[in-house]
Amino acid sequence: MSQQTCCVCGTPLGDALYRSPANRSLTSLCQIHPSATIVHACSECGHLQSDPIADVDAYYEADYDILVGSEEEDQVYEVVDGQPIYRTAHQVAIFLDKVLLPADANLLDYGCAKSSTIRMLCSSAPGFTPHLFDVSSRYIPFWKSFVRESNWAVHAIKPGWASHFDVVTSFFSLEHIPRPAESLREIASLLKPGGIFYAIVPNVFTNIADFIVVDHCNHFTETSLARLLGDAGLDVREIDAHAHRGAYVVVARKPLAGEKSRPVRDRTAIERAQIELARIADFWRNASERIRAYEARLENGERVGVYGAGFYAAFIAANLAHPGRIACYLDQNPFLQGKSMDGRPILAPGELPAGIHKLLVGLNPAHAKRIVAEIPALAARELDCFYL
Ligand SMILES: [Zn+2]
Repeated sequence: MSQQTCCVCGTPLGDALYRSPANRSLTSLCQIHPSATIVHACSECGHLQSDPIADVDAYYEADYDILVGSEEEDQVYEVVDGQPIYRTAHQVAIFLDKVLLPADANLLDYGCAKSSTIRMLCSSAPGFTPHLFDVSSRYIPFWKSFVRESNWAVHAIKPGWASHFDVVTSFFSLEHIPRPAESLREIASLLKPGGIFYAIVPNVFTNIADFIVVDHCNHFTETSLARLLGDAGLDVREIDAHAHRGAYVVVARKPLAGEKSRPVRDRTAIERAQIELARIADFWRNASERIRAYEARLENGERVGVYGAGFYAAFIAANLAHPGRIACYLDQNPFLQGKSMDGRPILAPGELPAGIHKLLVGLNPAHAKRIVAEIPALAARELDCFYL
């Protein structure tokens, strides 16, 4: 593996920046995968990449069950005054804010999965013609309701799609693709001159959990995104780190014939990214050790609560020597309460059983203390809290 190269710019990668302490990794669906997480940073373009899981094709065809439960199932982006704002609706709103979509446009959603965003866009901005592409055939039942069969493709792009599209979109798919430079060149070839590429990818700096998500082989930085797009012949219009929490929203344009593209290289930004990535690697290395050290101080058989029911909570459970000591998970999100995680109930904070005095907080450490301090039901209890 010493000859590994950066999948964005092709530069040989040196030693790993991070290696998980055990042969156990967490996937984006909070499941344990029996392999180590190994992460490299590229000194040339600032990209961060994880070694692909061994059986990646089989994983997406068989195990990757993101929201295939039903057509209406959706993730909550945030809860404002008790009202959920769904991720799909938020993505449609940002897209319409950033892209002028002509009524007769051809649009392709690349790596589309269920393509819930484009399905909703069809009702918000009717007139355009949606096309879909994914490496898995499992979503076809969802596609049928809003796309003609001749306008979707599985595994390989259709030959007639060259220079066919006004807009190509990618909502949280580039992070899963082991050879993104190849995919971006393909995407660029599918765009008409002047066409727009629009993507959303996780931002590892604002959501550091992404650093150790093993099925995200790519963790893009602003500099690696700029390099990826530039090398594919696209001009970066915008890389927005604020419109979607924990993510980058990317808008790029294919130059018209005769127009020269303008690649951007920013050495200082690449160096800044590397320093910050090394800091995140240290955080995760220490986090496993700190969980074990906290557990070692518990009474034999003592039960604990875990605050949160997402990735950070799953990381805590995966790092406990005795995860059976978790009595319950707590979460403020009413859509998670009443469900379960690892066979333990997810409860409202006020329902924490009286006999539990220790709480491990599985939240983004940037916000964890503030969030817990603002929950009256927890403030009223004598709790010893562990923070990541
Ligand atoms: Zn690179």
